[in-house]
Amino acid sequence: MPAFTDFNVDSLAELLAAEGYRPAHAQAILSLFHGQCGMIDLDKMSIPKPLRTLLRERIAERRSRVLLRNASRDGTVKLLVGLQSGGAVESVLMPTVVRSERAAGCVSSQIGCAMGCDFCASTKNGFERNLDAGEIVEQVLHLGKEASDSQRRLATIVFMGMGEPMLNLPNVMEAIRRISDRRTPGISRRSITVSTVGIVTGIDTLADSGLNVHLAVSLHAPDDATRAKIIPMNRRWDVASIVEATHRYQGITGRVPVIEYTMLDGLNDTEDQAHLLVKILGGMRAHINLIPYNSIGPGVSGAVYQAPPMERMEKFLQILRDAKFSAHFRVTRGDDVNAACGQLRLSVLS
Ligand code: SAH
Repeated sequence: MPAFTDFNVDSLAELLAAEGYRPAHAQAILSLFHGQCGMIDLDKMSIPKPLRTLLRERIAERRSRVLLRNASRDGTVKLLVGLQSGGAVESVLMPTVVRSERAAGCVSSQIGCAMGCDFCASTKNGFERNLDAGEIVEQVLHLGKEASDSQRRLATIVFMGMGEPMLNLPNVMEAIRRISDRRTPGISRRSITVSTVGIVTGIDTLADSGLNVHLAVSLHAPDDATRAKIIPMNRRWDVASIVEATHRYQGITGRVPVIEYTMLDGLNDTEDQAHLLVKILGGMRAHINLIPYNSIGPGVSGAVYQAPPMERMEKFLQILRDAKFSAHFRVTRGDDVNAACGQLRLSVLS
C-alpha cells in the first residue's frame, strides 16, 4: 500500500478525482501532512467522512520508522531509518553554524553505495538498492520532526548521506520536487544541495532539469593520479571532465558550486596540490569545503587513512584563500555519534 510520501499534489488529486472527490482536497491533505512533519490526524481534517475512510483504506500514514536515534552533545542527531520495503538508511540533522534556530538535514539516496571510495564507510558493504522518491521524502519528514522537537526549523537539505544521488537521479529529482513543491510546506530549492562523486552525465541532466538546486562536487584531489587512488570512478570521468561539467552546471543554473575536498594525510594535502587545485579550477567561482578526514578504520582496499596535522590543513586553506576562493573547513559534527557517512549503519550491521 502506498503512503502519503508516495504522492505529490497532482497524483493525489488524480486518485481523489477518480473516486469522485474534489481534487482540491489533495493540496489541503498534503499541506497538513508536510506541515506536521508526517504526523497526520485525519480526524482533525474537515473532509467528508467517506473520504477519510477511503484515505485510511488506500494510503498508509508512513513507510518508515526511526530505528535508532543518536544525539550528540553538539546538537547533531543521527537517525537510522528503517524502511518498510526492507533495509535501513542514515539521516542526520546538524545545527547550522550561525543561526541556532535553523538546522540542516542530510539524507541518503541509496542503501549502501557502489562507488568504492576508499575513505568512505557507506561503500564498505557494497550496494544494496536505490531508494524510491517516497523513501527519500520519509527521511526529510523524520528530520523535520526531529528539528521541531528541539525548537528548530529544518531549513536546508543536502544529499550527502549514503549513496551516489546521480546514479538514482529520477528518484532524487522527484523527491526534490515533492519537498520543494510551493503548494505544500517544505524546503526551497535554493536550500537543497546534491553532492556527487563526479558522475558527469548526472551533473548535465540535473543542470538541464530546471530544478536549479545547488551542486556539490567531491573532487578530493586536483590530479588524476592521486584521485584514482581513492576514487575508482575517476577511471570513468577524470578531473578535467568533472571540472568542465561543474562549469557547465554553473553556466546553466547560475548556482555557485561547492567543491568538497576530504583531507587525507600525505595523500592530497601538499602545497603543490593546493596550487594545482587553484590552477585547475581556473577562474571558476566556487566555495571550497575542506573536510578533515573522519576516521572509519581500514577502507575497502585495506588502507588506513588519517587527517593531516592542523598546520598543514591551514596552509592548504590559506593558499586557496590567497587565490580569492571562498574556502572553509567543514566543521566536524557529531563525532561521538558516528556521524561520518555510513558509520552508524555499519556499527549496527557488524
Ligand atoms: N556520493 C556523494 C555523497 C557522499 S557523502 C558524493 O560522493 O559526493 C558527502 C561527502 O562526504 C563526500 O564529499 C564524501 O567524499 C565525504 N566523505 C565520505 N566519507 C568521509 C570521511 N570518512 N571523512 C571525510 N569525508 C568523507
